[in-house]
Amino acid sequence: MKLVLIGAPGAGKGTQARKLLQKYDLAYIATGDILREEVAQNTDLGRQVQEIMHTGGLVSDQLIIQIVGHRIQKEDCKHGFILDGFPRTVVQAQELEKLAGALDAAIYLQVSDAVLLQRLCGRQTCSHCGATYHQTALPPQVNGICDECGHPLMQRKDDTVEAGSVRLATFHSQSAPLEAYYAEKGHLITVDGLQDADTVFHDIEQGIERLIAN
Ligand code: AMP
Repeated sequence: MKLVLIGAPGAGKGTQARKLLQKYDLAYIATGDILREEVAQNTDLGRQVQEIMHTGGLVSDQLIIQIVGHRIQKEDCKHGFILDGFPRTVVQAQELEKLAGALDAAIYLQVSDAVLLQRLCGRQTCSHCGATYHQTALPPQVNGICDECGHPLMQRKDDTVEAGSVRLATFHSQSAPLEAYYAEKGHLITVDGLQDADTVFHDIEQGIERLIAN
């Protein structure tokens, strides 16, 4: 099965991806994680993308398509994959189809901008397993420590009001057209991302079942 998760930053894509992975045997590919790792390792690629990432813009289509193209050829993708954070433009979506064929579903998590900004600004992410928390709305049991794996939590450099606002604007201008793109192809599942995470997941499961049955 080939799934993509679409949604503005803070919409809950990572959380839902982790739930999907518990149910389906799929590879998980988060382009933001791949790029952050390159930045952390201070590679040529990392140095090339760090400024644009920290300020909330998108790295070039060409670069990210090349990265995803390599990644989906790996053995762990043979039963399919969940892509989180890719595609982010219609050009990326078109290239993905050339690389991997038609998708089974594009899951769009809808959340209003005001809520997204609140979520982003207090967000804390586990440095090891990627679980996310929120300073006030969803604090960990022990301050600064991941409930799931015990590793330290960190705040992403782009989870600030400034970068967050740019990322939301970027989402609306570059990524929102993906909704119409996938709707036209009959692959779109739109879910209300304001609901609690389990209800969101339930709606996603139902949407996938509906698409598979058709
Ligand atoms: P994310 O973790 O998905 O929020 O991604 C963090 C940052 O990585 C984004 O704000 C972009 O700068 C960059 N990035 C991740 N995925 C893509 C993509 N598909 N296209 C362009 N830039 C991306």
